[in-house]
Amino acid sequence: MELIEDYIELIFGADAVVGAGKVVDAYYGHYKPENIYSGVTIKKLTELFEDFEVRLKKEILAKPKDLDLVDAEEATRAIRLFLSYQSEINDYKKQVSTMYGQSLKVVSKKNIETIRKHLNGLLSDLGYTDKWPENIKRWHSDSSVSAEEYLRVMKERTRELRDETFKRLLPKFLDKDVVRSLEEKSKVQIKLVDTSESWGAYHYYEGKYRSLVELNSSGKFNKHDAQVFASHEIFPGHHTESIIKEALYSQGKISLPATLTILNGPGCILSEGIGDYGFFFFNHKKSKDTEVAYLEDILNTSVRHNCAVKVLSNEWPKDRAAEIMGKDLGIHPENAQRRLEFAYSWKYYFPVYVMGYQLVEKLFNKYHENILFPLYTRSSPKSLKKYINL
Ligand SMILES: [Zn+2]
Repeated sequence: MELIEDYIELIFGADAVVGAGKVVDAYYGHYKPENIYSGVTIKKLTELFEDFEVRLKKEILAKPKDLDLVDAEEATRAIRLFLSYQSEINDYKKQVSTMYGQSLKVVSKKNIETIRKHLNGLLSDLGYTDKWPENIKRWHSDSSVSAEEYLRVMKERTRELRDETFKRLLPKFLDKDVVRSLEEKSKVQIKLVDTSESWGAYHYYEGKYRSLVELNSSGKFNKHDAQVFASHEIFPGHHTESIIKEALYSQGKISLPATLTILNGPGCILSEGIGDYGFFFFNHKKSKDTEVAYLEDILNTSVRHNCAVKVLSNEWPKDRAAEIMGKDLGIHPENAQRRLEFAYSWKYYFPVYVMGYQLVEKLFNKYHENILFPLYTRSSPKSLKKYINL
C-alpha cells in the first residue's frame, strides 16, 4: 500500500493520493511522449510506470496480504497495456478484448432501429411530424442556445440532480452520516473553455470532494443536452463515483488502487457505464425533450461505435463510415467525420461507452438498486462476477 501511495505522491503530488482522476488525466489525451504533465514528460512518466510495474510485481504481488490482489493485478495489467501503446498494435478487436476482459461487439441493427423508432415516437408527441431525419433537425434548431445560456441551464440541471443524488440515491447504500458529510463537502465548478479538441465535456476530479467540469465552447449547444452531460459528468456520474470512492478510501474501506481509474483499465467500463446509464438510476420525472436528448445520445454513441469499429479493424475506409453515420443520424458527413475523429484519436477508449452502457443497463434491470454499491465501488466488470454470472 505504502509503495503505491509513495509512488503516486512522488509523481503527482500529495493531493492526488486520494481519489480518482489524476492518473487518468496524465494519460487522457496527453500521451505524446514529449507532453508535460505535473512537471514531468510523459516519456519519463512511462519509464517510471515501467519501474513501478516491476516493483508492483516484485514487492507487492509477493505479499498479497497487504492489498486487494485483484486490484493490484488489474493495475499492473492496465499499466502494461498503456506501455504497449508505444508499439504498433495491429489487431484492434483482440487488443480491446484483452484490455477490458470483454469482447468487442457492434450494436445490432435491430437495437439501433428500436432506439430510432422510440425517438421518432417522442418527436411526434412533441409535434415534429416530419420524417426522419427532418424531424430531429428541426428539433435541434428549435432547442439551440448560446454557450452562456447552455452553461446557465447546465448549472440549473446540476442543482436538481444534486438534490436527487443526496436525498434519494446515495441513502440507499451509504450511511446517513456519510451522505451528509459528502453533501457538505461536494463541490463542482463548471466552466466554458475554447478548444479545438473533439470532446464536448470533460470531468477532472481534483480530490477533497471537488471536481472541475469543462464544457467545450466551440461546439453547438442544445439546451436539452445539458441534463445528459450533467448526469454523465457529475450526478450520478463521474463526480459522484469519485467522491464515494474518496470517502470509502479515507475510512479505510477500500484500497487505493480501487480508487484509481486508470485510462484503458477495466474500471473505465464501469465509470463510463454509470455516466451514460446513470440517469436511469433516478425515478426522475423527465420531460419529453430530455428523453429525446438521452435517446439521441444513445443512438449517436451506438452508431459512432459501429462505424469506428469497422474503420479501426480495417473493414471500412473512413469516408464510408462518415457517410453511413451521417445517414443513420441525419447529420452532414462532415459533422459525422468530426464525431468519428474522437473515436479514432481515442481508439482504445471509446468502446467503453457502449460496453459500459450495456453492462450497467443489464445489471440494473436485473438487480435494481441492489447493484448500486458494487457498481460504484468495484474497479472492473470482472469484480462484479458474482452478479454477472447469476
Ligand atoms: Zn465520461
